[in-house]
Amino acid sequence: MKVLILGSGPAGLTAAVYVARGAHEPIVIAGDQPGGQLMLTTEVENYPGFEEPILGPALIEKMRKQAERFGARFVDGNATKVDFSSRPFKVWVEEELYQADAVIIATGASARWLDLENEQRLRGRGVSSCATCDGFFFRGKDVVVVGGGDTALEEALQLAKMVSKVTVIHRRDKLRAQKILQQKALDNLKIKFLWNHVVVDVVGKDKVEGVHVKNVKTSETSELKCDGVFVAIGHEPNTDIFPGQLEIDEKGYVIRKTRSMTSVEGVFAAGDVHDYVYRQAATAVGSGCEAALDTIRWLEAQQR
Ligand code: NAP
Repeated sequence: MKVLILGSGPAGLTAAVYVARGAHEPIVIAGDQPGGQLMLTTEVENYPGFEEPILGPALIEKMRKQAERFGARFVDGNATKVDFSSRPFKVWVEEELYQADAVIIATGASARWLDLENEQRLRGRGVSSCATCDGFFFRGKDVVVVGGGDTALEEALQLAKMVSKVTVIHRRDKLRAQKILQQKALDNLKIKFLWNHVVVDVVGKDKVEGVHVKNVKTSETSELKCDGVFVAIGHEPNTDIFPGQLEIDEKGYVIRKTRSMTSVEGVFAAGDVHDYVYRQAATAVGSGCEAALDTIRWLEAQQR
C-alpha cells in the first residue's frame, strides 16, 4: 500500500527508511528545502553515533541514501495542496497529483522573522537567517545576531570565524541556549552581547548599514552600525497547506491525537511540525520512527 511522506528532514527520512523496509513503497515529497534545517547547520555534535562532529548536510545525505537503498522514491518539490477528506488521500505538487493510503507529515519548521518592513526588503542584501549560507559575504565585517537561543549562539560562533565582530542582541539578560554554547560564545573575544534590547528597524538603502535598537527596560533607542543582520529568533511550523484538513493548535503546529496519528485517521505527523518542545535531530528521528511504525500497523489493520 502506498505511503506519502511530506518532508525530507530527519523525521521524514527516518519514516522513509522504516516504511520502505516495511514494504509500503514510500514516496517522499522532499520540499523546497530538501533535508530541512540540518542543511543550514554546520557541525552537529550531539547526534548519537558520531564520535567526531558531522556536518548537517552530510548527515542528511547519509539518511537519504539509506532510505533510497530500501526503495524510497523522492520527488523534489513542495506539497502545495492536500485533500484528506477521503481515501485515497490526495497531495498535489503544483499540478502533479499523488495519491496514497496513508500520509506522514514531516514538513518541519522554518526560521521566524522579526516582521519589520526593512528587514524583509533587505533580505539577501545583508539580512539573513543562515550564517552557514551567507556568513562568507561578511568576512572582516561587523554583524549582529538577534536572539538568545541555541540557533543564535551557533550562528554567532559560526560568524565569529569569519567576521570582525558579532553583536548578539537579546531581549533579556539571560540566554536560553544550552550552557555549553553559552560558555563558548561568552569566551569568544569576537562576540559581544547587547542585553535587554530589541531590534526595531533595519537601516540601509540597498544594503544593510545598521539597526535601530530599543532598550526594553528604559525604552531608549539607539543606532548600531553593522553590515549584516542574522535573525535567529525561533521557528514557525510549515503547516500552511493543512488548515481545514486536520487539527492544528493555536501556534500552527499539527496536533497528534492517538500516538502519532493526527485528527485524520491514516494521516500521521512527525518531527518539528508537531513538536515545539524538543526540536532536535535526535528527537525528530525518534518521532519519524514512531510515525512509520504507527502507519505500518494502521495499514495492516485496514487489510484485515
Ligand atoms: P528558541 O530556542 O525558541 O530561541 C529563540 C530565541 O529568540 C529566544 O532567545 C527568544 O527570546 C528570542 N526571540 C523570540 N522571538 C523574538 C522576537 N520577536 N524578538 C527578539 N527575540 C526573540 O529557537 P532556536 O534557538 O531556533 O532553537 C529552536 C530549537 O532547536 C530549540 O529546541 C533548540 O534547542 C534546538 N536547536 C538545537 C541545537 C543544538 O542542539 N546544537 C542547535 C540549534 C537549535 P527569549 O529567550 O526571551 O524567549
